[in-house]
Amino acid sequence: MALVNGNYLKLKAGYLFPEIGRRVKAFSEANPDAALIRLGIGDVTEPLPQACRDAMKNAIDEMGTRDGFHGYGPEQGYAWLREAIAKHDFQSRGCDISAEEIFVSDGSKCDSSNILDILGEGNRIAVTDPVYPVYVDSNVMAGRTGDANEGGQYGGLSYLPITAANDFTAPLPSSPVDLIYLCFPNNPTGAVASREQLKSWVDYALEHKALILFDAAYEAFIQDPAIPHSIFEIEGARQCAIEFRSFSKNAGFTGTRCALTVVPKGLMGTSATGEQVELWGLWNRRQSTKFNGVSYIVQRGAEAVYSEQGQAEVKALISFYMENAAIIRRELSAAGLTIYGGEHAPYVWIKTPEGMDSWGFFDHLLNKANVVGTPGSGFGAAGEGYFRLSAFNSRSNVDEAMRRIRAL
Ligand SMILES: *Cc1c(COP(=O)(O)O)cnc(C)c1O
Repeated sequence: MALVNGNYLKLKAGYLFPEIGRRVKAFSEANPDAALIRLGIGDVTEPLPQACRDAMKNAIDEMGTRDGFHGYGPEQGYAWLREAIAKHDFQSRGCDISAEEIFVSDGSKCDSSNILDILGEGNRIAVTDPVYPVYVDSNVMAGRTGDANEGGQYGGLSYLPITAANDFTAPLPSSPVDLIYLCFPNNPTGAVASREQLKSWVDYALEHKALILFDAAYEAFIQDPAIPHSIFEIEGARQCAIEFRSFSKNAGFTGTRCALTVVPKGLMGTSATGEQVELWGLWNRRQSTKFNGVSYIVQRGAEAVYSEQGQAEVKALISFYMENAAIIRRELSAAGLTIYGGEHAPYVWIKTPEGMDSWGFFDHLLNKANVVGTPGSGFGAAGEGYFRLSAFNSRSNVDEAMRRIRAL
């Protein structure tokens, strides 16, 4: 008799995206001629940078020669990529992060879930509400939560509401927590955290010996030079934070797969017997055992992001999506909607109109404008009354979607 992991049975059956799919399918069957525009998905649409493609093609040719062939690479990632990341993403911004502290991986989604392997049971965990669902579901799967209640909130998690009422800034928890998931620029709200806000979190974590899990997947979209790109721009963060980064959203690697996690040397956790244990060693052990690295070809592609040409191409991609976001912001405001985000993130977070909840607004846009977005309530109870539109699309689709919404 093969027993299943009962924690999986606690999961609220992947409610959001299947339900969107069901409603879109029903609509399309009833209206086969309607030209739907999907502004719901958090996936990039524009081609990979030329610099990355050239580097990957060269790497493939190298792999075709006896001298240039590469088998298993270092589990932590090739040193030349880790050096480039440390220099361009961290040291250039004054962060004291070395190549040795960087672990290259095939995705931040995996890393932010897998990190639970090295963290114990019994941690008190805080997440924002709304939240990127991966943080919650990975804790449920690992047995770190209780059951879900009627509202879909799991026992044992502290939910920190981020809404217009608090300007989308995560409030410090009212009772102590040990693990804190923060994502800035935020998916789904598009909000950013100021230096002062991040400092208050770092101070909190240092005081409570808590660990911050900082997801910076959207840092490249930050436009205001005063907003930190990394938690390590805050003094003291080396003693209390792990950061996740990805090439998915800046360089369009969602289908190519490359990301990284920063675990500072000297960052400690506590064992059941009260001893201090370095997390770097545990993560290194975990990765060496359960992961065999990202392909040489893809790592060469990621390295090219840091070339002069790569930097220029990434900048152009970000500008393109941010121009989409600006169009969405401008047109929705002109349509009388209250909007947030979209200034330092590719997501615009819309207050649903009077008398419509998140799913009501979803149906309204689907039926009347044939535009698909994402109901805020799908990201958490405090997302009710909000709606997410993504700037990841072609300009013509964005223009047409906005024309249809303005015509309502
Ligand atoms: C898209 C995204 C990522 C990136 O995930 P990958 O697995 O690297 O593609 C990470 N965090 C958030 C919040 C995201 O939206």
